[in-house]
Amino acid sequence: MKPVRTVKPVSPERMPALLRAMPKAELHMHIEGSLEPEQMFALAQRNQLALAWPSAAAVREAYVFDNLQSFLDIYHAGTLVLKTEQDFYDMACAYFQRAQADNVTHTELFFDTQTHTGHGLSAEVVVNGLHRACMDAPEKFGMTAALILCFLRHLSEEAAFECLEQVQPLRDKIVGIGLASSEQGHPPEKFSKVFARARHLGYRLVAHAGEEGPASYIWSALDVLKVERIDHGVQSMTDSTLMQRLVQDRIPLTVCPLSNLKLRVYPSLTQHSIGRMLDAGMVATINSDDPAYFGGYINENFTQTFAALQLGAQQAYQLALNSFNASFMDATERARHIERLDAVFDTF
Ligand SMILES: [Zn+2]
Repeated sequence: MKPVRTVKPVSPERMPALLRAMPKAELHMHIEGSLEPEQMFALAQRNQLALAWPSAAAVREAYVFDNLQSFLDIYHAGTLVLKTEQDFYDMACAYFQRAQADNVTHTELFFDTQTHTGHGLSAEVVVNGLHRACMDAPEKFGMTAALILCFLRHLSEEAAFECLEQVQPLRDKIVGIGLASSEQGHPPEKFSKVFARARHLGYRLVAHAGEEGPASYIWSALDVLKVERIDHGVQSMTDSTLMQRLVQDRIPLTVCPLSNLKLRVYPSLTQHSIGRMLDAGMVATINSDDPAYFGGYINENFTQTFAALQLGAQQAYQLALNSFNASFMDATERARHIERLDAVFDTF
């Protein structure tokens, strides 16, 4: 591995502009979590559905969560408005537009089919709508995009197997498999067989671990599920042996500071461990998780975290570089993104 370049220092006043200008990849964003109340209302109207709230403003007011579960309850209610392939296409395009404004040049979207098949939709409707948006993303939004299907971990492994079988005819439209939803009480090893099957089918593997759950879940995501990337993973900071392992094996962590704040994983951003993770040499990245619900898209995550922790240009460069290195794009494409990143830091 070649050493990371040293970049010129940038004054704190100019940091927000640098964070906005730098190209970056977003690797931890659940597409259903980008559904803004206004779009939720528009889709409900298009599909002639009634919502539990009288207005988009009332939905926003309901976005106060105590923990992961209280968020998941309202999140699942919001997914009920998605009915057609076009709905999924439009939702993804709305996210791409916002991501483009934040200079995201590559994204690997999380989605699930189990929520929607549970509402009577077919997996094809979900995957085809999202995939068509990903195919249009380079021309329409100047970014590349891929899809990662997440199993819902509060459901059974049997249900995950069923989900995997349903998407087999759509195999070429999905780059990877992940594991999301309520972490506590649902350790990664619950899904060991279905992840082994997904690995056999050639999917790239990731899993949420160590968000609210213990560091031991990160160990089992690595050693039992054999994932390549850990989503969140902030609880690794409680286990120095695990930290060494993550550094040594260059396992990327897709960290989501505003999500952590909103779900009270940290009492304030000034106590967030992302700075310490970088100091330790961990391949950490910054992402928005469920931006419509957690108070901001990727740049908001960057600017608020950098202000709270007083991070500088070197950390900004490292995080952007990590995001491309952690992605599943091929080496040629990666080099092209990193070249653009370097060009911004050369001239800023
Ligand atoms: Zn997540």
